[in-house]
Amino acid sequence: MTWQQKIDDALTARRRADAWRQRYAVTQGAGRWLQADGRQYLNFSSNDYLGLSHHPQIVCAWQQGAERFGVGSGGSGHVSGYSVAHQALEEELAQWLGYSRALLFISGFAANQAVIAALMGKEDRIVADRLSHASLLEAASLSPAVLRRFTHNDSQHLERLLTAPCPGQQLVVTEGVFSMDGDSAPLADIHAVAEQQGAWLLVDDAHGIGVCGEEGRGSCSRQQVKPELLVVTFGKGFGVSGAAILCSDNVADYLLQFARHLIYSTSMPPAQAQALRAALAVIRSREGDERREKLTMLIRRFRAGMNTPDLTLAHSDSAIQPLIVGDNHKALQLAQALRQQGCWVTAIRPPTVPTGTARLRITLTQAHEAQDIDSLLEVLHGTGQ
Ligand SMILES: *Cc1c(COP(=O)(O)O)cnc(C)c1O
Repeated sequence: MTWQQKIDDALTARRRADAWRQRYAVTQGAGRWLQADGRQYLNFSSNDYLGLSHHPQIVCAWQQGAERFGVGSGGSGHVSGYSVAHQALEEELAQWLGYSRALLFISGFAANQAVIAALMGKEDRIVADRLSHASLLEAASLSPAVLRRFTHNDSQHLERLLTAPCPGQQLVVTEGVFSMDGDSAPLADIHAVAEQQGAWLLVDDAHGIGVCGEEGRGSCSRQQVKPELLVVTFGKGFGVSGAAILCSDNVADYLLQFARHLIYSTSMPPAQAQALRAALAVIRSREGDERREKLTMLIRRFRAGMNTPDLTLAHSDSAIQPLIVGDNHKALQLAQALRQQGCWVTAIRPPTVPTGTARLRITLTQAHEAQDIDSLLEVLHGTGQ
């Protein structure tokens, strides 16, 4: 087989399975509206849950940060790229979430890769929820550690897997709010089981942080659980991008020595760290509460409107409201029909989700108004879904 054939075969298989992935160059993609092809659509596919991507104070903090620090950090944090802005953000995050330390990463994907690569050796075992995000499962399968998956949100299955003998250390991995399903992990049960077996718990709260819990502290705070490792990302509720790992002093010291994504990669621009500090201040404030309350109201309105015999929504009280369709082709057609009627929704297909569970991943944001939800409901009911 030639290179050409290898590539062509893979592309053909993707197309045949209706699994072809495509990007659209949008003029604007976060917030209430999505603008593309000279048209404006109601945006039900961004992760900007709190509508912070266009918040004036946060935009201004980034601009002022760029004037003060320049647009780039100048290097890895281990060389010259760790600024007072990064330091202040790390301290604020640690204090907010009740950890000794926070370490910043360029993205959630990098944070997950880094922590699993740095901590897990071949004697060790990772026990992950089956539906964990690709960044976690990929890191786990690239790692020399043994990977076992437990049935989604099933702490009894987790316990059975953990009790099998393991020569090294065990790490339990799950998400706070699941990215493609919108449901929450039973973190208290999972942590108790892990603790009993001497395993550590890593919770990736990409979709909970900022959006739920007191002062937006996320899923763990809401369920009163403190995992040994907490990954938070800033591309969703924070409306920016980047990530942090919250941990103890000695784990932070260890990651600074051994996490290659920190050592061999340029740190985030200090101006971005300043924008994140401004986003954190909004999230913790009264305004943050109001934004969360409005989002909750919109979620309730949507679910109430979907509550008809012909429409079944997955169980989710988060901003992620998947409508499981099953078949890839049908999911694509439905997304297309919605788009024609002014609602931008993404069809999510395998391998992002299990085979036979293609879905419309509808996401709501605080930037929506009640009438936007009603428009979406009307369009959905009109399609016979
Ligand atoms: C989005 C997401 C990530 C990746 O975060 P980025 O900052 O976008 O790289 C990691 N984990 C989960 C659960 C996510 O949803």
